[in-house]
Amino acid sequence: MVQLKDKVFDILIPEEKLLTRIQNMAEQISQDYVDKLPMFLAVLNGSFMFAADLLKHITIPCEISFVKVASYQEIHSTGKLTQLIGLSDEVRGRHIIILEDIVDTGITIEGIVNDLHKKNPTSIQIATLLHKPDAYAKQLPLQYIGFSIPNQFVVGYGLDYDQLGRNLKDIHVLQEDRRNML
Ligand code: 5GP
Ligand code: MG
Ligand code: MG
Repeated sequence: MVQLKDKVFDILIPEEKLLTRIQNMAEQISQDYVDKLPMFLAVLNGSFMFAADLLKHITIPCEISFVKVASYQEIHSTGKLTQLIGLSDEVRGRHIIILEDIVDTGITIEGIVNDLHKKNPTSIQIATLLHKPDAYAKQLPLQYIGFSIPNQFVVGYGLDYDQLGRNLKDIHVLQEDRRNML
């Protein structure tokens, strides 16, 4: 149990389970991308731990780059516009694997993919540590998913609650969300 500000969290996915699954994902990606010299694009801040642990187990030549997402509500639009900060022209003609911490409704990842398309990469695939299928509202396929989780708020292993909790080594779930599901 851990308290961050006014909220209490319990462990949902322990570190050992995270690392085992991430190693499996890395092995799969290494097989799928042999001779493709993929470029990983890690979306900050949330994916920093996932990116580090995944990349340690990638066994083929690859590159990694980091982007940040700026999203804002347009006055007359319902959806969020997303813009990638730090995206260089190097992605042209490359096989890109986006590394995300979590895909929830899918609004953010869709914005990222749309923005990335403008730079003309050869291919774009998505690797996300966590996915909330019950909240997902997009058609975009997610090629690599670490764990599908219930529609509950999680922190740790890079994910934050009001910027806190990113340092936790396990994925934690908000206690009140978990209790409501039981
Ligand atoms: P989406 O656009 O897919 O709805 O949400 C994506 C973003 O919302 C994630 O990158 C993350 O920043 C945030 N998010 C969604 N669900 C959670 C969650 O359970 N915990 C935390 N800490 N952030 C979340
Ligand atoms: Mg994210
Ligand atoms: Mg956040």
